[in-house]
Amino acid sequence: MIVRDIIIIGGGAAGFFAAINIAERYPELKVAILERGKVGLQKVKISGGGRCNVTHAEFVPSELVLNYPRGEKELLGPFHQFMTGDTIEWFEKRGVELKIEDDGRMFPITDSSQTIIDCFLNEAQKHKVEIIYNESVKNISLISVKEIENFDCNFKVEGQSGNFICKKLVVATGSNPKIWKLLEELGHRIAHPVPSLFTFNIKDERIIDIPGVVAQNVDVKVVGTDLFSEGPLLITHVGMSAPAILKLSAFGANELANRHYKFQIEINFIKQSFEDCLENLKALKHHLARKIVFKSAQFDLPKRLWHKLVLASNIDLEIRWADLNRQQMENLSNQLTQAVFQVDGKSTFKEEFVTAGGVHLKEVNFKTFESKLHKNLFFAGEVINVDAVTGGFNFQNAWTGAYLVSKAI
Ligand SMILES: Cc1cc2nc3c(=O)[nH]c(=O)nc-3n(C[C@H](O)[C@H](O)[C@H](O)COP(=O)(O)OP(=O)(O)OC[C@H]3O[C@@H](n4cnc5c(N)ncnc54)[C@H](O)[C@@H]3O)c2cc1C
Repeated sequence: MIVRDIIIIGGGAAGFFAAINIAERYPELKVAILERGKVGLQKVKISGGGRCNVTHAEFVPSELVLNYPRGEKELLGPFHQFMTGDTIEWFEKRGVELKIEDDGRMFPITDSSQTIIDCFLNEAQKHKVEIIYNESVKNISLISVKEIENFDCNFKVEGQSGNFICKKLVVATGSNPKIWKLLEELGHRIAHPVPSLFTFNIKDERIIDIPGVVAQNVDVKVVGTDLFSEGPLLITHVGMSAPAILKLSAFGANELANRHYKFQIEINFIKQSFEDCLENLKALKHHLARKIVFKSAQFDLPKRLWHKLVLASNIDLEIRWADLNRQQMENLSNQLTQAVFQVDGKSTFKEEFVTAGGVHLKEVNFKTFESKLHKNLFFAGEVINVDAVTGGFNFQNAWTGAYLVSKAI
């Protein structure tokens, strides 16, 4: 039986951040990470396309939480304790400088996730965190007796190589169904896991053969629901992607799973009402009378998308603005402001994905990230039913939770 003060299950982003902060705060405690892989931090390694999008330059907690479809309410308090500014400072103090990109995403200036991994491994070594690899945890149980004289143990953790006992246990295993099962056996409710952050598969004449085209600012809604988002939209080889779509996939993760990823979306490519657009088209009919509609893209739309929408409006290639009839103008206004597309399936976004689901939010004390069911049991990272849109927010959740665990311990 191996005895440690603190055991952390999972050597990922949250597990390392918790371990380092605990060991730094309480050098007298014996802290061990049990990691099932032969190395840890594998998601950090591949994150952000190998650059690791560490956090996001959003410094107002009430704004930051808006990026969390699950966890918005619960993270507000924690973000007042530790958020983006603290993350930047934490890394800076340990020699890792972060930079902000135009869209607010923050990366190490080296543009390499290895910088973050090296920082964590150095800090862990400096503060004598023990990291036990190839240690897949098979069981967790509560122990009520004093297993060892003068050492109040609360948990027994069965690993690959043997059993561990500890006073305090931190579960930071990400989206691992086996661990969720063990937590259920300890009485915790687990919100059913479903994928979040995915792109929409769409087969439609209007987007075929134009991958790479970006509409800079669109409104998208899922027909028959309240799901709505706005932002850039990218046409891909298999459908649509970019923030307008990814946000919908995150905020609609459960709803879209219930629909088996078959649903309709309505896109307003120009953020105008049908009526306003029609008025504008009437004015263009007058101003551009001799010009060919197909060739004169409007509303800042990319030419290739304009071509597709014009053809979908039954407007032939050679038609001039002056010759448009009322029906064609209505068709065009319809395509520009309320174009309906059928989604049939989903794809992963740049291999990045997160899982919605996990330990029920009502069963976690968000001041400490301690279980409300079992004292001395803590959670951090994706194991809880918290997830975010893309942009560095998922890691920020891991850092914040792990930091508050270290404080509470
Ligand atoms: C390709 C990709 C790119 C991403 N890029 C970004 C990004 O740039 N920015 C961002 O904010 N988010 C990104 N994310 C999301 C982000 O990686 C996760 O939200 C984050 O890693 C969650 O941290 P975590 O510590 O909770 O879980 P993880 O990082 O998944 O770590 C969990 C650890 O627990 C270990 N473990 C699991 N079960 C056991 C067990 N039974 N016994 C022992 N160990 C176990 C695992 O091996 C793993 O090492 C990305 C995700 C993917 C898939």
